[in-house]
Amino acid sequence: MSDCLFCKIAAGEIPADRVYEDDQVVVFRDINPKAEVHLLIIPREHLAGLNELESGHDALIAHIMRLIQPLAVEQGLESGYRTIINTGKDGGQEVFHLHIHLLGGRDLPGFS
Ligand code: AMP
Ligand code: ZN
Repeated sequence: MSDCLFCKIAAGEIPADRVYEDDQVVVFRDINPKAEVHLLIIPREHLAGLNELESGHDALIAHIMRLIQPLAVEQGLESGYRTIINTGKDGGQEVFHLHIHLLGGRDLPGFS
């Protein structure tokens, strides 16, 4: 999708503070962090959100899920972290390219 911010970040057309990438995934720091550590994990493939997932994405999703733990350890989050996926307007999604928020550090706020 040519007009998608996270596609542009994945393609390197818009700068981001990247912490990891491979052939399927890019991970970068959120520009407006809500915690000491706040990463965004995105597939390179444009998928608007969870609602667009099909069976053909199963390997990609498994890859992303299994990436979270080593990323958390690399960021010093051995004692815990939070993952969030916002879906749709009423779910608080602002960027319509699937992403997982990985948040951690001391004193994460409560859910509200
Ligand atoms: P969501 O509300 O789940 O769609 O989250 C979108 C996130 O993308 C927000 O936490 C924003 O701070 C973050 N964000 C928006 N633009 C950028 C950018 N250029 N680089 C890094 N993070 C961004
Ligand atoms: Zn996209």
